[in-house]
Amino acid sequence: MKALKKNRGQSPNSNPRSRSARRPLVNPRSRSARRPLVKGPGPGPAYQRIAAEEAWAPPEILARYKKLLEEKPASWDPGFHSLWGFFLGQTARATQLVTRIQDLGAGRLADMDASGIARQLVFLTAPGVQVFDAQTAVSLSKTLNDQLSEEIKKHPDRFAGLAAIAPQSPRDAAKELERGVKTLGLKGAVINSHTQGEYLDDPKYWEIFEAAQALGVPIYLHPNTPPPRMIEPFLARGLEGAIYGFAVETGLHMLRLVLAGVFDRFPRLAMVLGHLGEGLPFWLFRLDFMHRAMVAANRYEGVRALKKKPGEYLKENVWVTTSGMQWAPAILYTLSVLGTDRVLYAMDYPYQFVPEEVRVTDELPISDADRKQLYQLNAEKVFHL
Ligand code: MN
Repeated sequence: MKALKKNRGQSPNSNPRSRSARRPLVNPRSRSARRPLVKGPGPGPAYQRIAAEEAWAPPEILARYKKLLEEKPASWDPGFHSLWGFFLGQTARATQLVTRIQDLGAGRLADMDASGIARQLVFLTAPGVQVFDAQTAVSLSKTLNDQLSEEIKKHPDRFAGLAAIAPQSPRDAAKELERGVKTLGLKGAVINSHTQGEYLDDPKYWEIFEAAQALGVPIYLHPNTPPPRMIEPFLARGLEGAIYGFAVETGLHMLRLVLAGVFDRFPRLAMVLGHLGEGLPFWLFRLDFMHRAMVAANRYEGVRALKKKPGEYLKENVWVTTSGMQWAPAILYTLSVLGTDRVLYAMDYPYQFVPEEVRVTDELPISDADRKQLYQLNAEKVFHL
């Protein structure tokens, strides 16, 4: 920890805006501004802050995204064009993000130190390799997983990672997940929601779930922008991305998995959602009520009886992180309905890098034991850190 703190401020970054963004934003004299990486030795258990949904995008994939933007018309994937057209553009927010998201070295470590984050669980940012043709996606996922694991090995006490996989070829995705875990030491896989408009409730994808269950590792269902068939009503008011559309689309995806019976078929499958479960914890009562009524009325061919209530799978097979949702009432509500063993801290770096937001979790009115679960123990357990 002492050695790591030397990294602070050493990032070679000539952009003055980035430099000032990296300075701690809270008054350094205030008590809560001092956020050691390991809490202690005061009352309650010491803990490390682990951030469990942190993004990375090496230059190679950013160059490929740029090429796609140039080659494909906006109508091909309006969400991709909106998201990466913006972040590969010239605004201050975009250039800062692109600088930070490529870095797995001194710059990122300095940001982690400035916000008191001991460790990040890092994975390839959305839409990952899912936007490419199958052959490109499979080959790129291997290259990028190799690269991620090499970078993690340089700072094994600060980083862990999830594998990128290509659902375009389910067999290859399952094999790459296995290689990522067994050979590269990665902790599971990330899937950025739909793959070119297709959802994982189609049984052709289930060998990915089969592999994850057999390996005992989770799949993180991370957002993507809605596919062309869904996105149009979001666009006029800029609602397709992190502000709302991500949650709508990813929550829908998880519900499709639940209602398709994925967790009856794979009862030990562990999945993770960001952003406090993409709104789903708020819906548990009505989901269960309406699902029961729909099954009883035999109203839909695609809706059948499940072994449990939909809400039970969301409580027993799904963990959620607090990424991008540093708001005490929402975190407390989610803890109260899912349980303290189900919620993991995440920052959503570098998209939502706001160092003082750690205070929200530091100051939540929960016990120190629960805070240690939220910050550290649940992540260690779910991702086998
Ligand atoms: Mn994210």
